[in-house]
Amino acid sequence: MKPSEKFDLRVTFPHRVGIVGAGRSGIAAARYFKSKGTGVFISDSSAQELLAATLAQSGLTEMPHEAGAHTAALLQSDLIVISPGVRSDLPILAQARERGIPVWSELELGFRASDAVFLAVTGSTGKSTAVSLLGEALRAGGRVTAVAGNIGIPLVSVTAGLPRDAVVAAEVSSFQLETIERFRPLAAAVLNLLKNHLDRYRSEDEYYDAKKRIAENFTKDNFLVLNIHDVKLTAWADTMNKRTNVIFYGHMPGANDSFWYDEGIGKIRYRFGGVQGTILDVKDMVLGGRHNFENAAAAAALAKIAGIADAAIGQGLAGFRGLEHRLEFVAEHAGVRYYNDSKSTTAESVLCAVAAFNGGVHLIAGGRDKGCDFSLVKSALSRHAVDVFLIGEAAGRMEAEWRGIVPIYRCVTLEEAVLAATHRSLPGDAVVFSPGCSSFDMFADYEDRGNRFKTIVAALTGERIVR
Ligand code: ADP
Repeated sequence: MKPSEKFDLRVTFPHRVGIVGAGRSGIAAARYFKSKGTGVFISDSSAQELLAATLAQSGLTEMPHEAGAHTAALLQSDLIVISPGVRSDLPILAQARERGIPVWSELELGFRASDAVFLAVTGSTGKSTAVSLLGEALRAGGRVTAVAGNIGIPLVSVTAGLPRDAVVAAEVSSFQLETIERFRPLAAAVLNLLKNHLDRYRSEDEYYDAKKRIAENFTKDNFLVLNIHDVKLTAWADTMNKRTNVIFYGHMPGANDSFWYDEGIGKIRYRFGGVQGTILDVKDMVLGGRHNFENAAAAAALAKIAGIADAAIGQGLAGFRGLEHRLEFVAEHAGVRYYNDSKSTTAESVLCAVAAFNGGVHLIAGGRDKGCDFSLVKSALSRHAVDVFLIGEAAGRMEAEWRGIVPIYRCVTLEEAVLAATHRSLPGDAVVFSPGCSSFDMFADYEDRGNRFKTIVAALTGERIVR
């Protein structure tokens, strides 16, 4: 028996829990255990005043804690729960494991504390969008639904206490998957395995392996939904076919059961359990772009596995208005539409954003360079874009990569880029801000960057100099 098997969390609880990291997730875990009568000790690397303020704000002033470092005091715990941002390979956690103290992520905790059915979504990009689409499909099917996890809502704050027939749509990061033991959702979708987070992992493979742990406990009772266009995932499918039910999604069907966006007829279709059917016509969706139709196909697969009727899935997917900062429609001025895609921090996301329009795209991109392969975007630029406006530290490398495809203009500020793009736009065109880089060279974070873009757009008057 693994050491933590004894903490079922529906019957047996630890006496003392150590929580590493007092962020949103850590505080939710502390509250949960406190409500169960378990002793809680919080350990956070921030300064004492900061931690004290966080605890006071959360009504947990009395809670035993340590600030500034993680010490041996943590080793008095029967169980340690770490926040998503905390590295699972900290020396203190290695010592804990040596002593047989289990170390869980918020994912393992949220799962153990719940009777509900879990559906999970992971991948390098598109997770929040796909899990939100799934949430809408489940709600439209009349199920009690919780969308939580990496999307910003701590799992345990919503999953504990849910009834058996409720469904949790969990957005899962590779970091959270590093410390799972029993986590076994009914079904999980892996959207893509792209080069990412090489700051945290020693190699690409180590990162991909962390993601693959989502199916670590899968059997023939589970369903693994994989992107048919990702070669790493289809190679993995060959192995997983023996162990579980593999379902493909994308813009074409595969040899297994599949959910796909049929571009020819503009519909999301499926072949599942010997039955063929249609979920919806993508014309009815508020969201646009082939990547979103594929995200919707992945969500449809998960909802179908949870037993939701086709019509309800279609209705839920159709009505989803999209998330802020993800190809978000901002405004229309003089026939030009403005889109905020500030969450785009990879070349793949710029590609999806540009290709989501039939043409007439004025792309604003750039920021702090994360080393993406921007050559991926070239053919989409030549087919869909009119011109490109570059800002930030990566501007030089992007310009070198895209030179000769469309006119490129270098701008110092985001304001300058929006104005320049506006001046070159004609009615029917789209100004698309999809940075493909992180925001930290010029902004606090991607939200600050997206909000700044929206403020600039809002300040534009209808009067423009048309080229
Ligand atoms: P995540 O939660 O994985 O970061 P989001 O749903 O927040 O993903 O989307 C992040 C960025 O990626 C946005 O710019 C969005 O428009 C874009 N995106 C969404 N789905 C996909 C996809 N399937 N492939 C590539 N990019 C995508």
